[in-house]
Amino acid sequence: MKKTVIEIIREAENDLPLSDIYLLLIHALRKTKEFLFTYPHNVLSAHELAKWEDNKKRRMQGEPVSYITGEKEFYSLLFKVNYETLIPRPETELLVDEIIKREPESLLDIGTGAGNIAVSVKYHLANCSIVAIDINEGALKVAWENAERILGKHDIRFIQSDFFNNLSKEKFDIIISNPPYIMSKSIKKLQPEIRDYEPGQALDGGADGLDAYKVIINEGWKYLRSGGVEAIHELPLLILEIDPEILDGIRTILQDRRYRIEKIAKDHTGAERMIILSLLK
Ligand code: GLN
Repeated sequence: MKKTVIEIIREAENDLPLSDIYLLLIHALRKTKEFLFTYPHNVLSAHELAKWEDNKKRRMQGEPVSYITGEKEFYSLLFKVNYETLIPRPETELLVDEIIKREPESLLDIGTGAGNIAVSVKYHLANCSIVAIDINEGALKVAWENAERILGKHDIRFIQSDFFNNLSKEKFDIIISNPPYIMSKSIKKLQPEIRDYEPGQALDGGADGLDAYKVIINEGWKYLRSGGVEAIHELPLLILEIDPEILDGIRTILQDRRYRIEKIAKDHTGAERMIILSLLK
């Protein structure tokens, strides 16, 4: 049976939000949103219709739109994603804002995933020397592809590393990380589309949600430059994405350690989402 764009949209509206319908239809037709608006009476080919039906079915079974389309916009750039990588979240753009406005000369991104933080920073700070690490080779491959696709020729160094294990003694102006921070016991309470599809390794922060933070905070200072000239720009800094649930735990790790809390910022939902730490002199 032949179907037009507008018929498809009207039919699907009962089952899916309009924003999902557009993204899935754009992907099935390999067209732009403007095309859909301009040619609502365009009849889908058999191949397009089959692709759309498949996309819709996967979405209705709970799969995130971004894994179906294989892409997600972050910081106004389009990133490839797959099951190896967490889907970039809008709240993580907060961290990128903080880095870009401080104009660091060097950056270490721990757990780069799809590479969205590292690539977005490089896009805006071409001279920043960036090392991006991940424990997962599959994620690094995606991050590498994103860097190639978005930046073209670039010098981001992608390194497979379990935290600092495979790094040299190089020091950085900023260490950034959006590590796993969900408490293990809370994983089962996540929305099914997150819990059943996104990589557990990128979500599960251990019993208290703090496993990754303990390593990054306890070891990170060794990889941060000491003050000096950089202190003019209020660097070096450790910038971490957080969840309000683990904030008290982080304060406990920080006690009597080498850092001062510079800033805690909330995301668009009002939840504490980022902590910025500076080194005590
Ligand atoms: N923000 C993600 C979520 O809420 C979690 C990401 C993370 O653990 N770093 O599902």
